[in-house]
Formats: sequence, structure tokens, C-alpha cells
Amino acid sequence: MEDILFKRKNGYENMTDKLREEMNEFNEGYKAFLSLCKTERECADFCKKVAEANDFKDLAEYKTLKKGDKFYIMNRGRAILMGVMGKKPVNEGVRVVAAHIDSPRLDLKQNPLYEAEEMAFFKTHYYGGIKKYQWVAMPLAIHGCVVLKGGEKINIVIGEEENDPVFCVTDLLPHLAASQMDQKGGKIIEGEKLNVLIGSEGLMEEEKLSVKKNIMKLLNDKYGITEKDFITADIEVVPAFKAKDVGIDRSMVGSYGQDDRVCAYTALRAILDTEKPEYTSICYLVDKEEIGSCDSTGMKSKFFEDILAKLCYMSCENYCDILVSEARANTICLSADVTAAVDPNYDHVNEKRNSAFFNKGIALMKYSGARGKSGTNEATAELVRKITDIFDENDVAWQTAELGKVDEGGGGTVAQYFAVLNIDVIDCGVPLLSMHAPFEIAAKYDVFMGYRAYKAFYN
Ligand code: MN
Ligand code: MN
Repeated sequence: MEDILFKRKNGYENMTDKLREEMNEFNEGYKAFLSLCKTERECADFCKKVAEANDFKDLAEYKTLKKGDKFYIMNRGRAILMGVMGKKPVNEGVRVVAAHIDSPRLDLKQNPLYEAEEMAFFKTHYYGGIKKYQWVAMPLAIHGCVVLKGGEKINIVIGEEENDPVFCVTDLLPHLAASQMDQKGGKIIEGEKLNVLIGSEGLMEEEKLSVKKNIMKLLNDKYGITEKDFITADIEVVPAFKAKDVGIDRSMVGSYGQDDRVCAYTALRAILDTEKPEYTSICYLVDKEEIGSCDSTGMKSKFFEDILAKLCYMSCENYCDILVSEARANTICLSADVTAAVDPNYDHVNEKRNSAFFNKGIALMKYSGARGKSGTNEATAELVRKITDIFDENDVAWQTAELGKVDEGGGGTVAQYFAVLNIDVIDCGVPLLSMHAPFEIAAKYDVFMGYRAYKAFYN
């Protein structure tokens, strides 16, 4: 009896040719997105372009809003909100899917460039929860932008084209690593050793060989930047490889940045496929989730509240503050973020009756947190009912999940920042293996179910 109640079906038990075809096609688009968009800025730009191509207009171009209108708003180039006006007025609530487009990586420091033993390096400060030892001895690419005096923005991407050079953080040879290997995992590679090797050719200047000078000359020739310009830049170091099929059966996707671009991409595709919904539908892709959402482009910013007020103002008669608080109280949000899939290699961290598995669909997390649910949002039973009914009515495969065993660890999402706005919210995302590693794995079936879930929620 218990098994029938709790065991979710594997998606391949009822796989049809039609579903397989749709799922595979969807994942081709997903892989292309992952390979192209490796920073929050690149993701936001991509969404803006795709939204414009699908009749979404900058909110600034509208004076008033009516049902069916499609709009987007960029937030400082690092976050984007896209929406479709619904049949019901905004104060009756909106339907939000919120995902984040920042991923763990190495950021260049403000003064990154230095030379040691006639080699040149960039100093970095890692961003988000990484296992530092995973970032050495593999090809890396540099993505970012530099803002010049006067505001001109120079975009930099090196390491992605077939003939581009790549970069790397070196590691110690095993022959001489006896004391290194005695260290605890967190200390095997220390933060200040995450220095990116970027050159070794010297330039003779005033009878002195300088590798650093040569690097700056090359950067100046190509981008017109000087060393000072690193101070006014957002530059990130990310894995240089592209998204790939994983498995002899090609049933999985392996890539950098799937936390949380898997939910971002599926939510994006869902909003693009939403026409004249009942409730105004919003896809909000935010920045800085991996470091606590504290930024004007992160979920703790007033940006979302302000936009909701603006939507009320532009669409409701007799605008007043009460309409905005009504809009918040009636809104439902899916906090679309990844969760951990059970990894048979490390299943000692899971309680399997309450864990997410590959190929069993989108994972609903009623709560996350750690140490007795601390620091979490917990969705009401009523909300879980409402969402699971929507999923069941729309052929969305779903499962429930907790992030690991009780007291094994834990984590948080942006859900709590919606909850404080008096918005009903539940975590709902795609399970991953190797989360936060440079190469994360998702099951294609679950990715496709993510898209289906968000689309059903909007419509
Ligand atoms: Mn995440
Ligand atoms: Mn994360």
C-alpha cells in the first residue's frame, strides 16, 4: 500500500514517441541556452532578445496595460522580469515563477592582474558555495563586461570559440602533494590559490621582460582597455566546455550552470507560450541567489514589489495602495529552484521516502531549511493542494522532496523573500546531480516536466 501511495512513477514507464520527441527537442534548445549564457548578464540579455522576438515590449513603451499585453523589464542588466497581462485585474493576484540566473563561479578581483615567476595570473574571489578543489586543472573561459569612462560597455568572452585560448587554475602534481592531500577537503585548494593562469610570453620593455605588460598590450589592442578598467568591470571565470548529452542513451544533460538556469530556461519557455492567461503571469529571473539575494538585482530588493505596484497603476482603475497590497495577498509564486536528486554513490545523505529521483518529474519542496526547518518558508497544505491539482490536471509528472536527511545539512531559496511580501509560495524545481559542481547533471525528462509545470501554472 505504501509503495502505491508514495512511489512516483519513472517517466520511462509510460514514455510515448510523441513525448520523447517533444522532450528531446526541448532539451536541444536548453543545451544551446546553457552553452551560450554563462553569466547572469548573458542570461538576461538572451531573455530580452527572445522576449522581443515574441512580441514582448519594454514596459517603458506602454502607457497603460490591458489583457494579453506582453512586457519585460530589465533590472540593471543582471535580472529580468517578463509578464503577460491576464484577464483578471492585477489586484486579484498574479502568478509568478521566480528562478535565479547567477551560478557559482570565480569572479575577478578589482585588481586582478599580477605576474609571478614570469607568468601572468588573474586573482579571483569565488562566488557561491563551491568545492574549491573542483575548479582546478580544467579549461576555463572568461566572460564579462568592462564599463569605460563615459559609460561605454565592452563585452568580453574568451574561451568559447573553437579556436579561442582557454585558462586554468593549476594544481599540484600528486608526486609532491603529500602534505596537500593530508588537508581537509575545504583546505586542499585554498581560496587565495584560485589564481587563473593567463599568460607566459614576456615583452621586453626598458631592458626588462614583463609578461604582465604583454597581457595588457594584447587586451588593449583587442578591447581598448587599460589595467585600471578592471576596477569598473563585472568579469567572471566559468568552465569553458559546452552543454552535452550524458549517457549512452543520451537521457541526461551535463553542463555548467544548471542551478538554476534549468528553472530559468523552462520558466522562460513557459511564459513565451502563455497567451491571455486568467491571471497576469510573471517570469522573474533574479541575480545573487547563490550569495544570499542581497543586491538591488537579487530577490531581497524592492524591485518586485515596485513592479507589481506599477502593473496595478498601469492597469487598474482608481489606483491606490490597497490595490497593491491586495495584489500581493492574492498572488501565488513558484520559487523555481533546483533540488538534489538521489545519487546512489552518496545516498547516505537522503531519506528516500522524501527525496527526489531522476526521471520522476518536477520536485515540490513544501519547506527547505536546516536544523528543524530553520530559516525556511513552509507552504500551506492548501497551496500544496492547489499546485498538485494543477499539475495532475495537466499531465505534469511531479514528486515531493526534502534536501537531504534531517540534520544532514540544508539550504534555502528565494521563497522566503516572497513569503515576507505576504505572497503564497512553494519551492518547485528540477532535481540535479553534482549540484554546484562545474559540470552538473539533469535528466531530460525532468527538465521537460519543469517546462510543463510552469506552463500549466501560468495557464
Ligand atoms: Mn539554486
Ligand atoms: Mn545553488
